[in-house]
Amino acid sequence: MLSSDTADVVICGAGIAGISAAYFLACRAGVKEILIVDPRDPLSLTSDKSSEAYRNWWPDPAMVQLMDRSIDLMEELADECGNCFHMNRRGYLYVTTNRAGAEALLENAEEISKAGSGPLRVYSGEPGEPSYVPHQEHGYAQDLAGADLLLNPDLIQNHFPYLTKNAVAALHVRRAGWLSAQQFGQYLLDQARSAGVKLERGKVAGVEIEHGRVQAVVLEDGRRIRTNIFVNAAGPNLKDVGSLTGVELPVYSEIHLKAMLRDTQEIIPRDAPLVIYADRQMLNWTPEEKQALESENDLRFLLDELSAGGHLRPEGGSSSPIVLLLWDYHGQIVEPAFPIPIDPEYQEIALRGLVSLVPGLNVYLERSQKPNVDGGYYTRTVENRPLIGPMPIEGSYVIGALSGYGIMVSAAAGELLAAWITGGKLPDYAHEFALERYDRPGYLEGFEEDGQL
Ligand SMILES: Cc1cc2nc3c(=O)[nH]c(=O)nc-3n(C[C@H](O)[C@H](O)[C@H](O)COP(=O)(O)OP(=O)(O)OC[C@H]3O[C@@H](n4cnc5c(N)ncnc54)[C@H](O)[C@@H]3O)c2cc1C
Repeated sequence: MLSSDTADVVICGAGIAGISAAYFLACRAGVKEILIVDPRDPLSLTSDKSSEAYRNWWPDPAMVQLMDRSIDLMEELADECGNCFHMNRRGYLYVTTNRAGAEALLENAEEISKAGSGPLRVYSGEPGEPSYVPHQEHGYAQDLAGADLLLNPDLIQNHFPYLTKNAVAALHVRRAGWLSAQQFGQYLLDQARSAGVKLERGKVAGVEIEHGRVQAVVLEDGRRIRTNIFVNAAGPNLKDVGSLTGVELPVYSEIHLKAMLRDTQEIIPRDAPLVIYADRQMLNWTPEEKQALESENDLRFLLDELSAGGHLRPEGGSSSPIVLLLWDYHGQIVEPAFPIPIDPEYQEIALRGLVSLVPGLNVYLERSQKPNVDGGYYTRTVENRPLIGPMPIEGSYVIGALSGYGIMVSAAAGELLAAWITGGKLPDYAHEFALERYDRPGYLEGFEEDGQL
């Protein structure tokens, strides 16, 4: 039995995208009959697998505006519920061990600052310089924005003594941190349900369209829900669900994993920020390991220079031993499949990469632990902007392609989608995230960087 066979809006997917859309439609725009349909428990496919971090530090001005709006909304929601989702503002710390890396960090930071992410302050350790302001462990009250670039190795060691002594520059991005995505999503869902949103278990298998307009949504078991508004929030299945309305969405998926290391030796302080290794690197292998890797077609790439961007952060409260490790050392575009394939070597390789950044982690290579790894898909567009807004069929909408930033963008994305659906006032950036943007001549020219890290 369906809880209802008609709805004003049917949302396909109870990930953070679908839930945020439901929250903004019901709680902020007053839409009454909203049904979210998903065969799984809410937030259980991708949205509970993330590293839950946020930042307004993006090279693309439209993304900066969207993220700043999203962070404003998250702060407002955190104020409202007494920070029930544990939002902090410890920042992202990008670290390099070489001069060329330091120049690249500076150049890149100047561009991102110009894109609107906030002022850049540079500290070279000269007498009379203003002091670098450290982050606070808890809360999001510190309103320092932009970024601090530390160019003095002693200054870096004073503040972050666990980093390699080879660190020559560290960029501390300040409107950034992390939160509990599960608790954030649950808070939005609870509010939405109190405002009347219903959740139905089921898989969307068809969308009935007549005269170019959505008429009904059909579930896999044959149930039919009459509606004139259908929202595709299907995460990694965005493309398949888009094709139910005859539209080919320009998205693809990459697999991304994360390891949960038990830091029993307390190598990473519990108050650390999210720390990112900004250098490409070659891993250290013994001659025997090298020989073994050379003979394996699938693993030989591990002998090459590998990508920058390995990162880590403490997870949980002061008594938790968990540190999250992430390193996309082998970017792979794949067709999403579940359960996701887990690379059995992931934890060890991520650890080997991050030892260059935090040498103390070497103890866990000497005394290895049973790997604890999960992950999901970054479903994304080529220029790494999300898809939020109307689709070519009247009454059909999309909120997705949230890539590696779906938690941080979800609030502004949900708000924007609700404005499109209800005819509310659209922000200046609205058209930059709608599907129609690809019709603009030359639109894709000028996206050099995807801003992923
Ligand atoms: C390892 C990793 C680290 C990440 N780190 C961060 C981070 O630090 N910060 C950040 O902001 N983001 C991060 N992300 C990205 C973020 O997790 C995603 O962008 C976000 O969770 C996507 O949310 P979604 O709602 O679009 O998709 P999902 O959470 O996958 O939800 C989609 C839902 O749609 C449902 N669905 C699919 N098809 C159908 C159908 N036919 N009928 C009904 N329901 C359907 C699915 O069952 C699912 O519940 C990370 C992701 C990964 C994998």
